[in-house]
Amino acid sequence: MDKNLLTAAIAGEEVPVIDEVAKTEGVKPDFLRRQIASGRVAVMLRDGKPSLGIGEGLKTKINANIGTSAAVFDQDIEVEKARIAEKYGADTITDLSMGGNIDEIRQRILEETTAPLTTVPIYQTVVEAGSFKAITEQDLIRMIKKHVSMGISSIVVHAGFTHKMLEKLRNTKRIMGMVSKGGSFTSAWMLQSGKENPFWSHFDEICEALSRKNVVLSLGNTMRSGCIHDHMDGPQEMEMDMNAKLARRANELGVQVIIEGMGGHVSPEKIPAYVAHYKKKTDHRPLFVAGPLPLDIGVGYDHISGCVGGSLAAGAGADYLCYITPSEHLALPNVAQVREGVVAFKIAAHIGDTLKYGPRPEDENLARCRRARDWEGQFIAALDGDRAREIHHRDKAETCSMCGKYCAILIMESYLK
Ligand code: SF4
Repeated sequence: MDKNLLTAAIAGEEVPVIDEVAKTEGVKPDFLRRQIASGRVAVMLRDGKPSLGIGEGLKTKINANIGTSAAVFDQDIEVEKARIAEKYGADTITDLSMGGNIDEIRQRILEETTAPLTTVPIYQTVVEAGSFKAITEQDLIRMIKKHVSMGISSIVVHAGFTHKMLEKLRNTKRIMGMVSKGGSFTSAWMLQSGKENPFWSHFDEICEALSRKNVVLSLGNTMRSGCIHDHMDGPQEMEMDMNAKLARRANELGVQVIIEGMGGHVSPEKIPAYVAHYKKKTDHRPLFVAGPLPLDIGVGYDHISGCVGGSLAAGAGADYLCYITPSEHLALPNVAQVREGVVAFKIAAHIGDTLKYGPRPEDENLARCRRARDWEGQFIAALDGDRAREIHHRDKAETCSMCGKYCAILIMESYLK
């Protein structure tokens, strides 16, 4: 797309992308245009691929993180993870690769998927420099521009904190301190150089690069809590306020914004109020939540814990959930764990949409198929029909092996005819 989407939406211009996204979402183009213009919806674009709207009034979206680590870096497996994530319903993919040939992995993911792709450019900068000390501010900017030129849809920068906030963090009584990887890289660079947050100091320059290509800016959540006994505190509030200011500035420069916040680990009774607080403080901009995990002891099952937390967050107004896999806190996920994480968060997003907008027609469709013992219809309607097909078992009868000939639906069907 040649013109700037945000500027065009503010000017009330006709933009085919807006019509396309409005049709996918089942909303009126005028409504969507107003949401984009006010910063309440951000649209991720990829050349020649479907565009994706994220924000208030639209369906809740989910993101799947994939990518090599310094310890495990098989390019084919990461590309397969991206394909599987997309197949089972990830709306976006974030490539967090830090091992192997990072440019090649990103290129292959772009070639083999259609979902919008996000990166965190500081990851690759750190790998290539080999130490925080060797990184210059211009290295960070150059890497952002390189990712943008490769055709990604969105980047994450942790611009919303300063030395003053790091000092404040040092004095909190948090158990887990800072758990954001990109935030920790940015902080380490700031602390060793003595300079201010480079993404904050060079914010306008970064926005200019993004604006030219309609790349969405995701403002990272450095100060999120890493366990449910770490509560919303001064550093989190300060980062939220600063991200809100940066979002306004980015919008002025023609850049659409997503705010990462609230996520990490949050006690369940606090989730709805925290979401409302974030939305209000950030002028209702699209809120991207990692999880959240509403408990810490579900290790090995964090996709289930995250599904519960994500359902509560989405129901309270979060627009975009970052999935969590069973391997969270334990290892780099494998392909099967990526699939489990994606489906768990599709469930969370769907429950969230049911809480936001009322019962969904997809559930009614499945129920009608179930009543008719239309097994194929159920597999098609299910979020993961392949899994349902694998588990389904019956003898020659039309019922399943759970009750066999004592099928309650069948019995009552004959008596209530
Ligand atoms: S056999 Fe039991 S579980 Fe299976 S469809 Fe009938 S009522 Fe449902």
